[in-house]
Amino acid sequence: MTPSFPTLTWPNHYSIVTGLHPESHGIVGNLFHDSKLNADFDYMDFPGQKDSHWWGGEPIWVTAEKQGLLTASCMWPGSTASIRGEQPTYLQPLNFYKNASQRVDIALDWLSLPENDRPRFVAVYIGEVDHAGHMYGPEDVTGHVNEELAKVDKSVGRLLDGLKGLDGEKGWFRYIRSWFGFTATREWWEVANVVIVSDHGMGEGNTISKFVFLDDFVDASRFDIVDDVVVHVFPSEGQDVESLLDAWKKASEASGNWRVWKKEDVPASLHYSHNDRIGQIVVLPEPGWAVSKRVQNKSPQIATSKPFEVKGMHGYNNSLVDMRAIFMAAGPAFKPLAAAIPAFQNVELYNMMARILRLRSAAVTNGTLGFFDDYLQM
Ligand SMILES: [Zn+2]
Repeated sequence: MTPSFPTLTWPNHYSIVTGLHPESHGIVGNLFHDSKLNADFDYMDFPGQKDSHWWGGEPIWVTAEKQGLLTASCMWPGSTASIRGEQPTYLQPLNFYKNASQRVDIALDWLSLPENDRPRFVAVYIGEVDHAGHMYGPEDVTGHVNEELAKVDKSVGRLLDGLKGLDGEKGWFRYIRSWFGFTATREWWEVANVVIVSDHGMGEGNTISKFVFLDDFVDASRFDIVDDVVVHVFPSEGQDVESLLDAWKKASEASGNWRVWKKEDVPASLHYSHNDRIGQIVVLPEPGWAVSKRVQNKSPQIATSKPFEVKGMHGYNNSLVDMRAIFMAAGPAFKPLAAAIPAFQNVELYNMMARILRLRSAAVTNGTLGFFDDYLQM
């Protein structure tokens, strides 16, 4: 699956549930500055994220709740805010001390509720593979990434096993089964539609020697940045965008390891021009590289990070194969297929989920209506 750009956690989790590109839903990064609100979004600021003004679009749980379906979110970004006046009925806010296994337990508790109280949609966010990927890198030879993958795989397996035990089979179907003596529990794919996705891939991280500092080419007083793999540049008052851009264009062409665009000129395929939260100039490093600023100005308030080494990183161009995400799905709504489906953008998922949940008036998205028709049987 092709993630949205930038290939970062918060923008993509929110694209998955809204069907919108980050420029359309407004979560344009893990860190960003909103000049109109004069406020900073920081993915680690949990209380700050409860403010509805950050979250545009309509997450699938909002559409579902508006139509009377119960939903649940275990730590999915965006779910602690009231969006369009709705929130998941069952909510576990982000807590990095809870591991995959504990998060699965929370989901299983919700799914074990009596049928009338049971959520019809459950979102669970699991972060361990991402953390290990950053620490040990995509080419990890220590076995740590595989170890985390195995742990998460086991937790997902427990979730699927848990689905088997659910009752709730209704009417004639249950009657016929018992008539023929098939009272044994059903397989999980007969009980629920399960979609397993990642928000992004993992590429090569950067060493200290692969840091580019924008104030090596232009005086630091002339601009501020928000440094989020993708770098947003905010020219200081009275500074001319074109002259800043000229200096960096020359430097980036000489280096070949990073790209710089005026916001309006970011390639259309990245869908990253139409939002006030995107800096007037956008700088994007190639995998293995990072861009920052040596001297920090006062504003925006989000501090630039000190140069650091990291084995694995994401956030780069979403057309890179290393940035690709996974998508797996099975359940009563999905046709059994002999082969993998061609790669598609994660903005297609909202419409798919809306159809499976039989929601009547789904939100307008950047996805294509009917995109999943060939893969569904319903
Ligand atoms: Zn990450």
